[in-house]
Amino acid sequence: MAAKVLVTREIPTAGTDPLKDYDVTVLGDGVPDRETLLEAASGASAILSTVTETMDAGLMDAAGSGLKVIANLAVGYDNVDVDAATERGVVVTNTPGVLDETTADTAFMLLLAAARRLGEAERLVRSGGWEAWGPMQLTGPEVSGKKLGIVGFGRIGQAMGRRARGFGMRIFYDARSRKPEAERELDARRMSLEEILSTCDFVSVHTPLTDGTHHLIGAAELATMKPEAVLVNTSRGPVVDEAALAGALLEKRIFAAGLDVYEEEPKVHPKLLELENVVLAPHIGSASIETRGAMAALAAENLVAVMRGEEPPNAVNSDAHGDAL
Ligand code: NAP
Repeated sequence: MAAKVLVTREIPTAGTDPLKDYDVTVLGDGVPDRETLLEAASGASAILSTVTETMDAGLMDAAGSGLKVIANLAVGYDNVDVDAATERGVVVTNTPGVLDETTADTAFMLLLAAARRLGEAERLVRSGGWEAWGPMQLTGPEVSGKKLGIVGFGRIGQAMGRRARGFGMRIFYDARSRKPEAERELDARRMSLEEILSTCDFVSVHTPLTDGTHHLIGAAELATMKPEAVLVNTSRGPVVDEAALAGALLEKRIFAAGLDVYEEEPKVHPKLLELENVVLAPHIGSASIETRGAMAALAAENLVAVMRGEEPPNAVNSDAHGDAL
């Protein structure tokens, strides 16, 4: 009998085609409720999950002792309890690398849109309230030649840096370790987070969500930013304290923000929804057709590798292998 594979959401066929040898259940297009998920997971050897599903110990136990792999369709895996998986010998995989350019595009799009007030401008046109071109109308800070601080200088952070170089921006970065090659390529300089916040005109956040990055940008950090600064977050919502950010934007302590991610998606802090100086995207960082296909294909490749007892390309808990492979 073919092993049971659960795919928690409808995904591009590039992700389901390679699973033809298995007994595959694909849940619908929407986010499955917990009960549906627990029921569907029962007896699964493999789960292909997305960021909207919490993959915790309860879910793994509902799947049972035959569960070998959770292949997350994302580079971030903060929705998966990796320790619980490792304890159970379940391999967890992610999809790094294939979404770097697309996610950096989204970050740069938000940077430009927030600086040049695109959301506000579009609302003006659609409302019928636009009366004429105006010399002072909807002006925002110039992007070209300005200082960009990149917090988290990994795959996506560096892709953001490459875009910024095309706009003649000067690059400063914060990461746990130095990146000499990227420093040379992008003429980038490492700085402390404190220095970045107090000196940069634009700050873009690209760290994973971990215990160490939760509320990395909070009220105290926002208070040190320049009044003309723009903050962009395409990492994970809880890396920025959303209530503190809403307060800073409301009081115009910073110029604007561009957000793709939120603390309690799909909820957005109610104050943010009322503000003109924030551009809000619904977690579309990697949402190009090509990239979503590539992510689905890579998630499936990881899943199939573990099912075949092979080393998957992107295990995040290689310590689980001893039991699982
Ligand atoms: P990555 O290559 O692992 O880069 C992460 C960077 O963050 C690394 O440079 C790392 O430093 C740095 N970092 C970690 N903890 C830090 C801390 N406390 N302070 C400063 N820097 C820290 O990851 P990636 O592929 O670029 O992805 C980054 C994140 O973007 C993902 O985890 C995911 O949550 C998010 N993402 C969001 C979307 C979206 O749709 N909005 C799409 C894709 C990814 P070291 O290099 O020194 O370790």
